[in-house]
Amino acid sequence: MYTAELIFRITQGRPQIEKDAAVGIVMGALWENGQILDPGPPMTVTARRYRAFVSIPERTSLDAKQNSPAARKRLAALKRQGLARPEMKVLGKDRGQLDPCECSQPGNYILSTAWFDDRWTSPVQCGDCFLPVPLYRIPATQEPMMGNAPAGHWSLLQWEHYHRACEGFWLRSHPLMGKEDARTPERYAVRQLERIDSGLIKCGRRFCAMIEESTGRPTYYALTRLGDARSVRKEWLRPCPACGGAWLLDQPWHGRFCFRCEPCRLVSEIAGNAREHLRPKGNAKAQRGKGAEKQV
Ligand SMILES: [Zn+2]
Ligand SMILES: [Zn+2]
Repeated sequence: MYTAELIFRITQGRPQIEKDAAVGIVMGALWENGQILDPGPPMTVTARRYRAFVSIPERTSLDAKQNSPAARKRLAALKRQGLARPEMKVLGKDRGQLDPCECSQPGNYILSTAWFDDRWTSPVQCGDCFLPVPLYRIPATQEPMMGNAPAGHWSLLQWEHYHRACEGFWLRSHPLMGKEDARTPERYAVRQLERIDSGLIKCGRRFCAMIEESTGRPTYYALTRLGDARSVRKEWLRPCPACGGAWLLDQPWHGRFCFRCEPCRLVSEIAGNAREHLRPKGNAKAQRGKGAEKQV
């Protein structure tokens, strides 16, 4: 990830409010396309120019070839709004941040948020290197339930925010509110994050299907597994929550996902307390059934 500066020079004396809106709309279009990672970056304004300091996934994220049709349209409109097309300067690499996937053709994708990790991630990871995939490399994903949402990845980014909000409810409610008051948001969050029929998971799986259709690559939804299992043995033996088939892998995929169901395009971690125990002997073989296929 890099930090870059975008400079919008003012060319005509249009009203300030119009220029503010024009710059904001361009930033929004770049964000919806995954070219910048913050929809409201720090920005300074003088009589001559706007300067925005943005985080971008890679050096070339702001190259014209990455622009979506919406971004191209917004950039072209700047001239009549009294602004020149922005100049871009890469200021340097962000230390400690993840680099994006560099695979020329990822074999598959994983939809997941890394809530334990505040470093930048795209909600889409490469299934080969497990690094984030900048969203502009993926055709637009439009969630039909979100009606007139802008094109691009706007609704996928809304889904990611909703996912992270649920993770926040689960993780942060308790210490802030005490056990009793935290119960309601915690339960809601657990239902959304873990239950296969929750709105969050249904919506996320629709995005997986869209990405798979447009890229031709299998796209897995990463189910969240919160807390400890009541029974470690049952945790190892639990079936795929969508089809009831066996989905335990011989080895965790990317060291993280112990379960994967090919037909349902689902992967899952194992509960923390089960991970510390050896799997019950013979169960990997016994688990081989309609849901389990060879590892990718
Ligand atoms: Zn990759
Ligand atoms: Zn399944």
